[in-house]
Amino acid sequence: MALELLKLPVDMRRACDAARARGESVGIVPTMGALHEGHLSLVREAKKRAAFVVVTVFVNPTQFGPSEDFGRYPRDLPGDMAKVASAGATAVFAPEASAMYPPGEETRVKVGSLSVPLCGQYRPGHFEGVATVVAKLFVLAGASVAVFGRKDYQQLAIVRRLATDLLFPVEVVGHPIVREADGLALSSRNAYLSAEERQKALALSKGLTAAARLFAAGERDATLLRDAAFALLKPAATSIDYVDVADPDELTPHGNGAVGERTLLAMAARIGVTRLIDNMVLGEEPPPLATK
Ligand code: AMP
Repeated sequence: MALELLKLPVDMRRACDAARARGESVGIVPTMGALHEGHLSLVREAKKRAAFVVVTVFVNPTQFGPSEDFGRYPRDLPGDMAKVASAGATAVFAPEASAMYPPGEETRVKVGSLSVPLCGQYRPGHFEGVATVVAKLFVLAGASVAVFGRKDYQQLAIVRRLATDLLFPVEVVGHPIVREADGLALSSRNAYLSAEERQKALALSKGLTAAARLFAAGERDATLLRDAAFALLKPAATSIDYVDVADPDELTPHGNGAVGERTLLAMAARIGVTRLIDNMVLGEEPPPLATK
């Protein structure tokens, strides 16, 4: 069946309603487009769980700060359509910003403590924008399953919280990070990197791997685990927003104490001018690079 392109919220609602009326379950994969293999793995995951899979392609203005890259964020709807069709999607929802935020709109979904640490400290209003658009997408789709990447770990935690708190009857599925063979986490923003910066960007996954090695060897000191990642990131990064070890569920940073048997190690740094994020849950996931 040909991939359907939906532009208006009302069309999105109708297409999802019609799918459910046919007895098909609806799955949703929210994205900002410029799709890569990481996004496509989410689409394939959704397709395993739902007959009607809608991929949303929307560069959501409310989640960008005034000095962030909203204007130059990569956009390629025709390319995205071809990619998601081959990954098994049924429809693409690509609305105009004015359709998602009609004139006079002023309602926002405010997230609680999960939006405070990590990226929340450096991107004021970001998670409010994310939560607002995700709530709108959930309402339109009435999806029974939504797939998000663990690449945006804090976002995933917030979306889970949102679905629970606002009583959305949707199962939020977290999908593992898809990486290049050399460890770099796939990201639409990798397109901004020069060849030299692309090399430097490996410092993020190398930092995770270094900490994972220590953790596997029994290290549980939060400072030492953080320092191991920081030491690799420091020489490569233009600036580091944070390297934190935190509770993997509550996201509260561990400070300088001992970490538990599952610990989130998360980082955000600029390579050149490009802000990249990466993370892993120590004790739960294999490190980005095979350990020797
Ligand atoms: P974005 O288009 O960057 O907003 O991402 C859309 C969705 O794709 C989010 O749920 C991301 O976490 C997920 N995603 C982005 N990159 C990756 C990756 N490398 N591996 C897995 N999921 C990803």
